[in-house]
Amino acid sequence: MSAPARAAVRTAPTLAVDLSAVAENTRRFVRAVPGEVMAVVKADGFGHGLAAVARTAVANGATWLGVTSLAEGVAVRAAGVNEPVLSWLNPVEVEVAAAARHRIDLAVPSLRHLDAIAAAQHHVRIHLQLDTGMARDGAAPDEWASLMAAARRAEVAGRVTVVGIMGHLAMAAWPGHPANSRGTEEFLRGVAMAERSGLRPAVRHLAATAATLTLPSAHLDMVRIGAGLVGIDPSDSASLRRALRLTTPVAQVRRVEAGVGIGYGHTRVTCRPTTLALLPLGYADGLPRSASGRAQVLVAGRRCPVVGVISMDQTVVDVGECPVEPGDEAVVFGPGDGEPTVDEWAAWAGTIPHEIVTGIGSRVSRSVR
Ligand SMILES: *Cc1c(COP(=O)(O)O)cnc(C)c1O
Repeated sequence: MSAPARAAVRTAPTLAVDLSAVAENTRRFVRAVPGEVMAVVKADGFGHGLAAVARTAVANGATWLGVTSLAEGVAVRAAGVNEPVLSWLNPVEVEVAAAARHRIDLAVPSLRHLDAIAAAQHHVRIHLQLDTGMARDGAAPDEWASLMAAARRAEVAGRVTVVGIMGHLAMAAWPGHPANSRGTEEFLRGVAMAERSGLRPAVRHLAATAATLTLPSAHLDMVRIGAGLVGIDPSDSASLRRALRLTTPVAQVRRVEAGVGIGYGHTRVTCRPTTLALLPLGYADGLPRSASGRAQVLVAGRRCPVVGVISMDQTVVDVGECPVEPGDEAVVFGPGDGEPTVDEWAAWAGTIPHEIVTGIGSRVSRSVR
């Protein structure tokens, strides 16, 4: 390899985030829906950086931010974002004062949450959270009437303002599944109930990425887009742009004979003389151990198999007869110019791309452009 090319190689494992992909994906969703787009930046912006993704999404037309915990909402404010923020999973004893101080809306999934929030010294905006067929977060249908009546009482008493009502669909990644239309109808039934209770939630929101792409009847006033912003399409119906590239310099290169056992448990024994390249990345850095024996990495422009088990801090790649030297760049995954993609890693590990992108460890340095 020539000297200038070698000089361009980074000296440590690096996760490069391409914000132009996030920008393009955001604009695509903004164009595709009649209402507003909430950028969901939970879990550190799906591993792409909460502040960077939040700012990029807002600069490209998103008008709301969505997060799981209140602490993530505070991080959105710390990033200088002024748009409305909604946090949807908090304990009953959520710090209402902090939500009020940082202007963060709270989702309310139960009467107990509502009572605690209404009893606090601070006024907050809330979104009633209905469980529309997941048996997960949100109020179960048999609690909706009492939750809505109590929310209306709290609103009349000046304790809260009900600005939104939200649901979530379990089967949106399977377009055409009857649970999607059923969940949508359930949600609209909930909206009608809320209105009969005297509530006027201005923002009705149900769809996440998959439903936004495949179920226009679920678009309503706003859609909540997380995976789609970073190029993941659970419905496999759109081509979005991937934003991550994980690279590392090769740490060490070793020539071995046939019959050599590799790594813990010798799960792989060489059947011919070959060259092994060591990567300083392992499952603590987010390379799933369950992908051992299937995964590939791009080294010296060629896809080479990962051999032996991925260990906590290191991974061995069989580069065969390729001329590879320590310091050469290995591409673990990227947007798909020959190198493996996040989808391939997910398939090798028996999981979904979301788990790969949110699992990259903290000791991998980040570079955002
Ligand atoms: C994570 C999440 C989203 C975003 O879902 P994507 O499929 O990643 O777009 C939307 N709404 C809720 C309630 C979520 O938890």
